[in-house]
Amino acid sequence: FGFKGCQKIRGPQIRNLLEAKDFFLFDCDGVIWHGENAITGAAKVVSSLIRRGKNVVFVTNNCTRPRENYVHKFYRLGFTDVMLEQIFSSSYCSALYLRDVVKVPGQVFVIGCDGLRRELQEAGIPCVEEADDPDATIYDCALAPDVKAVLVGHDDKLTFLKLAKASCYLKDPECLFLATDNDPWHPLSGGRILPGSGSLTAALEVASGRKATVIGKPSRFMFECISSQFRGVDPAQCLMVGDRLETDMLFGSNCGLDTMLTLTGVSQIEEAQEYRNSDQTTNHSLVPDYVVDTIADFLPAFEE
Ligand code: PLP
Ligand code: CA
Repeated sequence: FGFKGCQKIRGPQIRNLLEAKDFFLFDCDGVIWHGENAITGAAKVVSSLIRRGKNVVFVTNNCTRPRENYVHKFYRLGFTDVMLEQIFSSSYCSALYLRDVVKVPGQVFVIGCDGLRRELQEAGIPCVEEADDPDATIYDCALAPDVKAVLVGHDDKLTFLKLAKASCYLKDPECLFLATDNDPWHPLSGGRILPGSGSLTAALEVASGRKATVIGKPSRFMFECISSQFRGVDPAQCLMVGDRLETDMLFGSNCGLDTMLTLTGVSQIEEAQEYRNSDQTTNHSLVPDYVVDTIADFLPAFEE
């Protein structure tokens, strides 16, 4: 009754939607794969869309690998026709932001994995070398004089010293504060979870009293990167497919795209319905337009 969205679609409705759209944005973890295992049928969905002349891009908040690694990962998991130009990760987009938007006039202090640092180096962004003695403390380590940005992402080798140094750099109001993404946590197999970049960003936000600029979903910047590389992409022609309401569906809404939740990942349909029924209208941006159990539900639409 006047509630929009959360429409579970199947069969002919999926076929009509796939015909109507010409640009597909897929989140990766929870949609295309779970860690190292492809979602059943996903590779066939991707190759069928590409063969029909649709544009397909991948939009991931995972900042731990450079883009080449994703090309290899796609290939390894059976997606044999995915190219570098189709991959938009929060690490790649962070590099573009530093290089093309803020044109950072000095070094970047990075909290993150080697893959993030490699992506920045490829874009020619100078990063502070981390060569700390493991026993060093903030009292006896040197701070680089020309740090103009702190970039925080998922870091599996996080130390207290890195947080302390980042906090010191952020005392300079001219030093930018960026986060690759703000994901709170990620599911692992066996019911375990991994704290996400958002948990590290939160620690530095408290320490610095500042708010980070977020590059990844749900911020619009990743869509700006896509539009500048795929000329003339019309938001009305796009479908954003994701598994997380707070990142993927909000990203789609923020960019004016139709959104689809697939139930192979983090968010459940009940959470989407709660947001839909909420009196708070800001929650309505988290509601998907469409819901499917899995993107494998697209497959019958490709049969003649
Ligand atoms: N960041 C890290 C470190 C991850 O492990 C994951 C998922 O596994 C993500 C981000 C989320 O990736 P995506 O946006 O593809 O769901
Ligand atoms: Ca995901």
